[in-house]
Amino acid sequence: MRHLPVLFSAALMMASTATAAPHVVASVVPIHSIVAAVMGDKGSPELLLKGSMSEHRAVFTPDQIATLGTADLVFIVGHGLEAKLAQISGSEAVNGKTFIQLSDAPGIIKLPVREGGAWEPDDDEPAPAAGSEAEGVLAFDPHIWLDPENAKAMAREVAVDLGKADPENAAAYAANALAFAAETDKTSAAIAAELAPDKGKPFIVFHDAYHYFEKRFGLTGVGSISDVSAQAPSAERLGQVRDKIIAARATCVFREPQFDDKFVQAVIEGTGAREGVLDPLGAGLTPGPKAYDQLIGNLAESLKGCLGG
Ligand SMILES: [Zn+2]
Repeated sequence: MRHLPVLFSAALMMASTATAAPHVVASVVPIHSIVAAVMGDKGSPELLLKGSMSEHRAVFTPDQIATLGTADLVFIVGHGLEAKLAQISGSEAVNGKTFIQLSDAPGIIKLPVREGGAWEPDDDEPAPAAGSEAEGVLAFDPHIWLDPENAKAMAREVAVDLGKADPENAAAYAANALAFAAETDKTSAAIAAELAPDKGKPFIVFHDAYHYFEKRFGLTGVGSISDVSAQAPSAERLGQVRDKIIAARATCVFREPQFDDKFVQAVIEGTGAREGVLDPLGAGLTPGPKAYDQLIGNLAESLKGCLGG
């Protein structure tokens, strides 16, 4: 009986939350995490791309599209990341709703798509399938969340947008964005210290997703098996990557949980390079407000684990 009043007030809080907070959908785990952190105890966003779906390949069920149509706000990275989502934004299927592209937020640092060396596909590779984002030229590398400074800028933008949709809680959203920034700064400082001894050690990644992370923490990525849009590599490209591993004396090649391991096995065979795993999207994490810090923390740990070994 002693616990009853507590349960009662918790139920009341849940009821008031359910009516007050806007219905929010976020595309991928890191964006969902930022939105969840900014919403705090005011509500919970829905996550669209669950599990190990690639950010470049995701397709959506009619049910998911219907959910988008009933949401008050839909946050995506945009600009070539969730290609299928961008295509349906503003369409009849989603009640004409335009999604908020967080890569347009003020203060977002944008890096160009890398060219040259083992970063771009060779000329002999087949043209990308019609309708894929690789068909057009990307204006910038869309993996913006892998710079913690960008995550903070996105949190500020999310707070502004939520505040407009739900003015009553605007101050709470702004305070939560500040708390998220403080937490991210702490994680970022810990990562910088952890990775400092491994700055000069060359490595190869699965797809060209880590430019922002490498630049922020001064790391030496020297190539990728697959390009910025994670197109399947040709045999020729695999050969070039293999040559790069040998020439640059890369000690680690990182696979990703979203993709088949066979390409990594093919390029490292006989080179002496070790295999590691990097998860740029947080596929293995429990979605929620802590997932972002865990995602970048895990990247640092995986890099350290392989490069430092
Ligand atoms: Zn990617």
